Amino acid sequence: MNEKKYDVVVIGCGNAALCSALAARDGGASVLVLEKAPEPWRGGNSAFSGGLFRFAFQGMEDIYELVPDLSDEEKENIEIEPYTHEKFFDDLARVTEYQTDGDLASTLIDQSLPTLKWMQSKGLRLVLAGGRQAFKVDGKLRFWGGLILEIVGGGWGLIDALLEAASNADVEIRYESKATKLITDSKGTVIGVSVRGPEGSYDVHAPSVVLASGGFEANSEMRCRYLGPGWELAKVRGTPYNTGDGIKMALDIGAQPYGHWSGCHSVAWDLNAPAFGDLTVGESFQKHSYPFAVVVNINGERFLDEGADFRNYTYAKYGGLIMEQPQRTAYQIFDQKTLHLMRDEYRIRDVTKTEADTLEELAEKLEINVENFVKTIKEFNASIEPVKFDPTVKDGKSTKGISPPKSNWAQPIDEPPYEAYSVTTGITFTFGGIRVNNKAEVINTENNVIPGLFAAGELVGGVYYFNYPGGAGLTLGAVYGRLAGIAASANAKVKS
Ligand SMILES: Cc1cc2nc3c(=O)[nH]c(=O)nc-3n(C[C@H](O)[C@H](O)[C@H](O)COP(=O)(O)OP(=O)(O)OC[C@H]3O[C@@H](n4cnc5c(N)ncnc54)[C@H](O)[C@@H]3O)c2cc1C
Repeated sequence: MNEKKYDVVVIGCGNAALCSALAARDGGASVLVLEKAPEPWRGGNSAFSGGLFRFAFQGMEDIYELVPDLSDEEKENIEIEPYTHEKFFDDLARVTEYQTDGDLASTLIDQSLPTLKWMQSKGLRLVLAGGRQAFKVDGKLRFWGGLILEIVGGGWGLIDALLEAASNADVEIRYESKATKLITDSKGTVIGVSVRGPEGSYDVHAPSVVLASGGFEANSEMRCRYLGPGWELAKVRGTPYNTGDGIKMALDIGAQPYGHWSGCHSVAWDLNAPAFGDLTVGESFQKHSYPFAVVVNINGERFLDEGADFRNYTYAKYGGLIMEQPQRTAYQIFDQKTLHLMRDEYRIRDVTKTEADTLEELAEKLEINVENFVKTIKEFNASIEPVKFDPTVKDGKSTKGISPPKSNWAQPIDEPPYEAYSVTTGITFTFGGIRVNNKAEVINTENNVIPGLFAAGELVGGVYYFNYPGGAGLTLGAVYGRLAGIAASANAKVKS
């Protein structure tokens, strides 16, 4: 096995890795994929994802091309605003507090639509994400928040389709095969990888190596070291195998650390979810309908603006705010008015839900500060501006005179029975990583390209800081994965 030579070795078997492998095969390269996890855990975080893809598009023709089986009736009954390069860039810049690397971001956005079309050509099927990203208004489905399409079958659908395409393209995949070290020559050029597999340790030589092995979200020591004390206690939403190996291997040979090393994507996640993701439950431990709730901590106090923006632009940073609360715990409180707007994840069997007919009884059952809680809700109810409620737009139905405010979708909590959902912090992925250029070539600490080394996906730093626009993780992996595969196969050609 160790004697066999490849043009390109890809480390990891998630979305970024498989896009790299397929693009490298398009370029005529022979490709080996090394995956640390056993086969049932294939697909990394990508398999856990909801399969939502953010991409820039000019008009409905692009949507019709990506979803060719839409009927005329369906076309009639949807309202979708174009999501231009400028809008995507504005959203990305705003949520990252204007820290996003302009070059990397522009490439991400420019390549988002062509990459999605390329993935479609590899057999991926897309559908409208109407269930999660649209509300019915006057009989029409109105989409909001720049997120329109998802992969058929979600994360598993994505991984199954990419694996099928990889198999058709003769990409070799080795499971339970952990990359442990990058091999370099005396000039620092990467010439292969050391591997630990079921049959022991060995080296694989290749002129191009693509790192696509995820961030360090599943490594409690690195979380504590880089994200800060307490983060070792966060629940991990996805794979237990993303432990920062690729980042460490790259730094060991002089790659440049880049991006927001103390930042991560984290969300409200069921309080009693397991320590790592559960493949049978997938993303459903998340609780993303908080814009229609009031969120309190154990002291019965509010601590965030539930309606600051559409869910897509706040959910990834609110996990961090929950981490700062006593016992890293929060409660989303709903009354009967908004139950019909709740996402499917509130209806799963494994949910930490409490119901009561009065606010006092609810607080007692939750074992939170009863007096404070009742006072918080009463003050909240009394502070709401008389504006029409509309979940499809930022309706400006806000509170006045309380802190923090609720800036949109504020409705009184006054129609029992009340429902509370207990949540804690679930980490999705880390923002810090290694630096690449817009060909996905890895840059060293002297700002030069490391010959033979390419990187894509979560382990690339510099795009996401503080927060993240929903659906952009898969886009980042796919766009830079494809670019890495193109550059890696071109490099192998030059070397052969
Ligand atoms: C619950 C959940 C829901 C999400 N929903 C969405 C969504 O709807 N839309 C969206 O855009 N994003 C979503 N995301 C984020 C998205 O999943 C990630 O940003 C993206 O999948 C990362 O892709 P990747 O290829 O970089 O990493 P991964 O898919 O995690 O792949 C990395 C792979 O590398 C392997 N690996 C690690 N170390 C080694 C090693 N040493 N050797 C070999 N292999 C190694 C891992 O086992 C893993 O299989 C979600 C994430 C989660 C957890």
